[in-house]
Amino acid sequence: MSKTKIWTLWEGEKINEDEAGLLRKVAAVIPIPFDEEGKRDIKTLVSAFLERDDALGLAAPQIGISKKIIAFRTGKLDEKRRIKSEKDYDVLVNPRITQYRGEDEKMSEGCLSCPEINVEVGRFSEIKVRAYDIHGEKANRRYTGFIARIVQHELDHLEGKLIVDHEGTLYYPKSKQDFFERLFFNK
Ligand SMILES: [Zn+2]
Repeated sequence: MSKTKIWTLWEGEKINEDEAGLLRKVAAVIPIPFDEEGKRDIKTLVSAFLERDDALGLAAPQIGISKKIIAFRTGKLDEKRRIKSEKDYDVLVNPRITQYRGEDEKMSEGCLSCPEINVEVGRFSEIKVRAYDIHGEKANRRYTGFIARIVQHELDHLEGKLIVDHEGTLYYPKSKQDFFERLFFNK
């Protein structure tokens, strides 16, 4: 079975204008209580996320659904390990961060929607989030450390923001230097 297609800003050395347009949009909220379309979109995102062992998290716009839904790992963060139970991940609908705490820590991040690059991004080490869970119940969550970083990354997607929109140092393979320099530095 082929995996759900991930929308990307570019592919090889081609810019994906259409996909970039949706990835750059502010995602729409899901009606509460969930309507049928909302329930279907949540299911679609969760199954797309569970298909992948290369994703720490996935936001609905990354599969072409411009809605506020994210799924991410919360269990042992071994990227090679497949998700085995519902305890290993979390799903948030209409999430918003209500509190940032701690240090603004810099670390290099990758993103399935920005293939082949890494960007150093500053994230807070602790956040509080208000959202709805997968069943449509109100959820208040607190995340720290690396998981707080993943959640902030996924929440950026819902605002149409990607790692390349952060100002940190960019890393890309030497073989693609010309392409990425043209893209990011207009050389
Ligand atoms: Zn991402």
